Order: sequence, then structure tokens, then C-alpha cells
Amino acid sequence: MSNRRKPPLVNMYRTEFLHSRTWFARRDRWFAEQVARGIPLACAGCGRAATKRQLELHHLDYTGVVLEQGRWRALEAHDDLVPMHPYCHELLHRLIDRDTVLARNRTRRAASDQALQRLRRKLQPVEGSPS
Ligand SMILES: [Zn+2]
Ligand SMILES: [Zn+2]
Repeated sequence: MSNRRKPPLVNMYRTEFLHSRTWFARRDRWFAEQVARGIPLACAGCGRAATKRQLELHHLDYTGVVLEQGRWRALEAHDDLVPMHPYCHELLHRLIDRDTVLARNRTRRAASDQALQRLRRKLQPVEGSPS
């Protein structure tokens, strides 16, 4: 598949899905699940603890986002979604969208994983380094 051709759903994903009740409900379920798993809420980029209101969810995979007969369905697996501050999330997208190496990755998950590692190195101070 050519990198130049964007999947047709990406634009509708941004303009419609992320504003849909389907997504807000999925988001609520994700946070409930995270709490149920006993995982403290924190930003995947900077690693700082954060509240649900402070966090956005980044999609590692869009395949769970389905438009079916005019209705959105949010079938993302729990692990398809990653909590991030809006600021850190924005940085992640800039890394993914503007980096030619990351753009050549086969999947969004692989590109996201690499970008997240870079972001963490940048945003999370190494233990023992002066603060
Ligand atoms: Zn953050
Ligand atoms: Zn994102």
C-alpha cells in the first residue's frame, strides 16, 4: 500500500468520530477498564500522573473504528488506546507525521511505538540526572 494514499476514513475519523457519542462512551469505558485493572492514570509520553479529564487517548490502531451503515462503532481493543496529555499527544503526532523514518513503518502501531520511545527519552528525565 502506498504511503501517499490515506485511508478514506481518516478525515471522517477526525471530523466526526472523535466528536461522536460513540467515542465518548468508548473513552469512558477505557478509563473505567484502566482503573479496574489497577493501573494508575498517567501520560504515556511524559510519564506524569494525570486525571481522566487531563488525558486524551491516542489510537495505536484504527481498525477498531468502524463506520457501519452511517453509524460509528468503537471496537478498539483496550491496548489499542494510549492515554496522553494533549500537549504530549500533539508532540507524538508531529513526530509520526513529520518523520520520514516513522512514516515508512508498516503500521501505525509500530510508528507510534517508536515515536513514543523517542518522546519518553525526551520528556522523561533519566534517573540520576540533574533536574
Ligand atoms: Zn504528558
Ligand atoms: Zn493520537
